[in-house]
Amino acid sequence: MSGVVTQKREDRAGVYINVRGEGQALHREFGLGCMADSDSSLQQGIQCQEMNSISSLITMSGAAFIMHSPLGCSGCVGGFNQLYHVGQFHDGVQHIKNARYIATNLDERDVILGGEQKLTDAVLEAQRRYTPDVIFILTSCVSGIIGDDVDTIAAELDKQVSARVIPIHCEGFRSKLPATGFDAAFNAIKHYILPKPEEVTERDDNLINIFAPMSMGIADQKELARLVEPLGLVPNFIPFYASLEKLRKIVTARVSASICQVFADEFVEWLGDTYGIPYAITCMPLGVKSTDAWLTAIAEKVGKEAEAAAFIASEHARVAPQIAEVRERLQGKTAYVSTGTGRAFAAAALVEDYGMKLAGLRTRSYETGIHDNVERLTEQYGGQYLLDIAHGGQGHQEVSYLKKLKPDLIIGAASGAHRLGIPVSHVLDAARPTLGYSGILYVGRKLAEAIENTAFIEKLAQHRRPPYKDSWYDADYKKFNRAAAGSGGDADV
Ligand code: SF4
Repeated sequence: MSGVVTQKREDRAGVYINVRGEGQALHREFGLGCMADSDSSLQQGIQCQEMNSISSLITMSGAAFIMHSPLGCSGCVGGFNQLYHVGQFHDGVQHIKNARYIATNLDERDVILGGEQKLTDAVLEAQRRYTPDVIFILTSCVSGIIGDDVDTIAAELDKQVSARVIPIHCEGFRSKLPATGFDAAFNAIKHYILPKPEEVTERDDNLINIFAPMSMGIADQKELARLVEPLGLVPNFIPFYASLEKLRKIVTARVSASICQVFADEFVEWLGDTYGIPYAITCMPLGVKSTDAWLTAIAEKVGKEAEAAAFIASEHARVAPQIAEVRERLQGKTAYVSTGTGRAFAAAALVEDYGMKLAGLRTRSYETGIHDNVERLTEQYGGQYLLDIAHGGQGHQEVSYLKKLKPDLIIGAASGAHRLGIPVSHVLDAARPTLGYSGILYVGRKLAEAIENTAFIEKLAQHRRPPYKDSWYDADYKKFNRAAAGSGGDADV
């Protein structure tokens, strides 16, 4: 099965998924190599791989998707389809299309007798209805458990129909980290779409691959294109709103950049090793400092440091007065960040742009790629913030320590926060600009509005009971964790 991810993200060296404590302490432990994951006897929720695989590719033009799964597994696609509509609208598309997907609706009968015929029928139906360039087959827990031979079926149908038929192995149980679903999508691109190194005959000296997930909207694409323009670069955004042709062009680029440290990181490194394409992987360009770092890292790869420095200076001058306006509204407030790994560390660095203090940060993984960001946060905030690495969310823990931390604002999606009366906002907004120098203004105003308009959240907290009994808030929130030897990570808040 050549398209299968051979190493889950949590099995990579230097990846930790269940550890918590003061930011500074965890940074030191990781640096000394003595950090260790704890285990938990209560696991509240782990995001499905399939969601990340399909969200990576669903906006591709000329693509159709087969969810080889029970119907429920395709439930998330409706939400992604809505974002696809918004993206097309922002891109000026007149006749907005739906994403093209079919679920095989595996049921009890298929669990016993197999679902291979249903899969074959669905692929042929997708070809008949849509005549796409490519049909991606997304596997599920059920197709994986019953052992349908998806690769062989895809290979046979690939010869029969005009579309490329490509399997993506994204069974939900495959990994504890949902970002493995991104890896599965990129593995499929790597094995089934890209030309071999000896087949690449030309390079485009102006082309930059920018790898970004669906949570980055068209407005963000436009901002990123504006950022790399002074470096003489034209972006090939992958895989968001890409096409089969744009995917094939990946190997002709001069340089690659990822939107953060965990999206397509392995793929970008592989492109460097296999095709000699230099790459920059830094913090997400969210906020002034992270945008500076993102652009400077790309400039260094193409020898345009002076151009980048001049552009950065002019952008700082442009946005400084408006940031000062936002700072006045947010100065001195405390923020808690709870979101995916790449975006979380960028958001945590961003709160300083607005004069806020970081009270805590929860995300899915601590890995080598974000170690420098934790160091930067330690310098910014003195290391006195809670860092909670909880791959499965662990809402029961989060809501408990949030009640003690009492931040003025939560950035992200924290469990039960509304019922605790804490205002919540997000820096993840695929419908509006969040990235780059232009994004910082929108994000800042949005956070300020959340903190200034608390009437609804206060009423909600007055009239709704918190999600757990009082006894839970008084208990040790780590009581379901099994401490790991050698780790001081599970320290108290
Ligand atoms: S593939 Fe598995 S984890 Fe994902 S939605 Fe289906 S049953 Fe749930």
